[in-house]
Amino acid sequence: MSVVPVTIGVRAPSAHEAPRNTPGAPLVDTHGRVHRDLRISLTDRCSLRCTYCMPEQGNEWLARSSILSLDEIEAVARVAADAGISTFRLTGGEPLLRADIVEVVRRLSRIEGPGGPVTIAMTTNGIRLRHFLPDLVDAWLDRLNISIDTLRRDRFHDLTRRDRLDDVLDGIAAAAASPLRPLKLNAVAMRGVNDDELVELVEFAVAHAAQLRFIEQMPLDAGHTWDRHTMVTRDEILASLSTRWSLQEVPGRGGAPAETWALDGGPHTVGVIASVTAPFCGNCDRLRLTADGQLRNCLFSTTEFDLLPVLRPNDSPDPAAVDAAGIEAVLRACVWGKLPGHAINDPSFLQPARGMNAIGG
Ligand code: SAM
Ligand code: SF4
Repeated sequence: MSVVPVTIGVRAPSAHEAPRNTPGAPLVDTHGRVHRDLRISLTDRCSLRCTYCMPEQGNEWLARSSILSLDEIEAVARVAADAGISTFRLTGGEPLLRADIVEVVRRLSRIEGPGGPVTIAMTTNGIRLRHFLPDLVDAWLDRLNISIDTLRRDRFHDLTRRDRLDDVLDGIAAAAASPLRPLKLNAVAMRGVNDDELVELVEFAVAHAAQLRFIEQMPLDAGHTWDRHTMVTRDEILASLSTRWSLQEVPGRGGAPAETWALDGGPHTVGVIASVTAPFCGNCDRLRLTADGQLRNCLFSTTEFDLLPVLRPNDSPDPAAVDAAGIEAVLRACVWGKLPGHAINDPSFLQPARGMNAIGG
């Protein structure tokens, strides 16, 4: 049985909180972390069914009526940018399944915050990328992350339950030929699935002027089948890569989720996102907006902050009457409610009800 997320409304900051979390101030939480990155999930739908993300069948989709419109997304993004969010990462589900994806990029890329124009990044499975890339570049997309867990057709089919490897490779080739840099490729490392392919994946990335980033598998699959023992750890990933390259840690990680290593002294690098064995919550600067208007302050949170009542008063979307103060209040309540870290490694950990496809990775 799945865990139902708790959706809560706005709690006004109390008097002693006010100096750090008032309108116009940066988005600082109770642990001093300043938030600069908003991940915007555009849909929970996807063209693949990766085993670590979605079940093959029986997925419960978000109601179409609850999916935020372009105007609603822009309204939230404008308020977030005013409060210091400087990067918007578009994700999903598969963001390129959204019919208005180019317009979403175009509208968001025009937003300026106190520090100047925002950065627009996208995480995609790459399947429709070749088709959309010229228009996305024209709309001022800044950066791309493309997910690819294996280069072998049979494995790709087993892992994603779809025979679309050629489309993904085509999308990566198009991205490599585009001006978008840095280009990053994401791979979830899985025991007995692709853990004999880690060196090959890095070589593939290097050949495409990209950085490979390995992600430890997290308990976020919609089918709730995560098993710690099938997760390949950061240390195992590094040990595997060390058979081919000498690795030098690159300093200056900041709030980035990936630790980075230079391969044989550089210039090429590899990243590892070790959310499970080496959590980086202390420097987390990220928030998430789900496709159905819920703000989340952590991937693993079971609490959500509902923007729909503010965006759709009386259940009727009205782009002409944006309640910026209302949106900001929900945003600040979400930041203020952020815990110091996730509890994946705690026996009491409860997996969120939403799978990764509905949270936005
Ligand atoms: N569909 C797009 C894609 O796959 O790139 C964007 C959404 S996907 C949810 C974003 C990222 O989350 C992908 O790189 C994917 O590999 C990663 N991901 C999904 N489920 C995961 C899990 N259980 N553990 C670790 N990473 C996961
Ligand atoms: Fe789709 Fe991305 Fe999830 Fe794979 S990881 S099923 S491509 S949303």
